[in-house]
Amino acid sequence: MNHAIAMDTRADIPTDYQDTPIGRLLEYHNMARALDGYTQAPLLIGMCMDHRKNLRIPENFAYIIRTGGANLRYSEFKVSYAIAVGGVRAIALIGHNQCGMVNLIARQALFVQGLVDAGWARETAERHFHHFAPMFEIGDEMDFVVSETKRLRLRYPKVIAAPLLYRIEDNRLYWIQET
Ligand SMILES: [Zn+2]
Repeated sequence: MNHAIAMDTRADIPTDYQDTPIGRLLEYHNMARALDGYTQAPLLIGMCMDHRKNLRIPENFAYIIRTGGANLRYSEFKVSYAIAVGGVRAIALIGHNQCGMVNLIARQALFVQGLVDAGWARETAERHFHHFAPMFEIGDEMDFVVSETKRLRLRYPKVIAAPLLYRIEDNRLYWIQET
């Protein structure tokens, strides 16, 4: 089981992340740390496209890739760009609870009808759903973010990566303790 651990004070931040861009992200968003000035972004944030989330971070602090479920499997070139050209050496992967990419199949009828209402033929909408839903289904939010973080660590060995969770109810970031 993975656990979401509250990050309320600096002492809560795992030592591996303290004084790294990941620790700073937690301090800015959760602990009201004064926003520092940056000229070059030290961090890449991967987070869901969901509209209910807003981060408190300084300007120029982070590249941000937003996708369904914070799934970066189909954004690899952009991740590589942020690392290779942008020079980032830290990735914060932020999942969130109540994510629409969990149990997608339960929303099939809604999805298809929504596209029909937007002008698609029903059969095309159904084919579209069946083609893409398995690619974007994430299962469980926290398990997915942890497995995706592990994949990124293997892919980019000199980049630190941390799995985080955004809770919709309190708009705070939690560290996902990996087990
Ligand atoms: Zn989501």
